Amino acid sequence: MQPAKPPTEPTPSRFSLPGSVARPSPALQSKGVKITISKENYLKTIAEAESEGEAVIAATLARWLNVTAPAVTMAIKRLKRDGFIHVDSDGHITLTAPGREIANRLLNRHHLIERMLTEIFGMEWFKVHEEAEQLEHAVSEDFERKLIEKLGAGASCPHGNLVGLDTPVDRRRRGLRPLDEGAAGEKLSVVSVFERDREMLEYLENLGVRPGVTLDVIARNYDETLTLRVDGKSVQLGRPVASRVWAAAADSRTAQ
Ligand SMILES: [Zn+2]
Repeated sequence: MQPAKPPTEPTPSRFSLPGSVARPSPALQSKGVKITISKENYLKTIAEAESEGEAVIAATLARWLNVTAPAVTMAIKRLKRDGFIHVDSDGHITLTAPGREIANRLLNRHHLIERMLTEIFGMEWFKVHEEAEQLEHAVSEDFERKLIEKLGAGASCPHGNLVGLDTPVDRRRRGLRPLDEGAAGEKLSVVSVFERDREMLEYLENLGVRPGVTLDVIARNYDETLTLRVDGKSVQLGRPVASRVWAAAADSRTAQ
């Protein structure tokens, strides 16, 4: 018989799975240092926020995971105690080697499941992230090996993102730029899109802006929007969205 959920449990969002971090069930507590799903999610989120070039502090995690500050404080205490994170005197959080190993394992599985869903099952690219958020916790090492055999390693996910730590600096080094830096007259190829915002992905899909698409930058407007030509249509894109889409010169061979 499962104990009743504590009433203070944070509302699950698309970023967090049901299950309280601050007050784990007795069943979870009795397993000692076993990593719970929520702990794994914290570690993965730290790696993901780093990947977006964010300085990771407690508030970053509260925002990314949509949990309360006290829940984050409690989780940080536990992760630190268990040796998965390091917190410096400014509150800046970094992963230790064991913490990074767990985060990477989850990121790898997330990546493989997204690829499985689109490449094998034909699921739409803008839907697979949420699905992978759930399924990544249920993948065994055996199944992971099968997925790698089937899909091959190293390709980018349906959102164009590479597996592992890939910061804005890394992307620029590969010749990519955020779309909002596009100049009028440029022909650009969309390479990757920030994938943790489902509404934004659907918005982009409706405009025809998705990884692999080539578009023309027609104008940079005074109101910080871009006028683009996508598939023969004129499309306006505001800066908050354009800055989360990475593109390469359409004839570039250095970009992945
Ligand atoms: Zn992805």
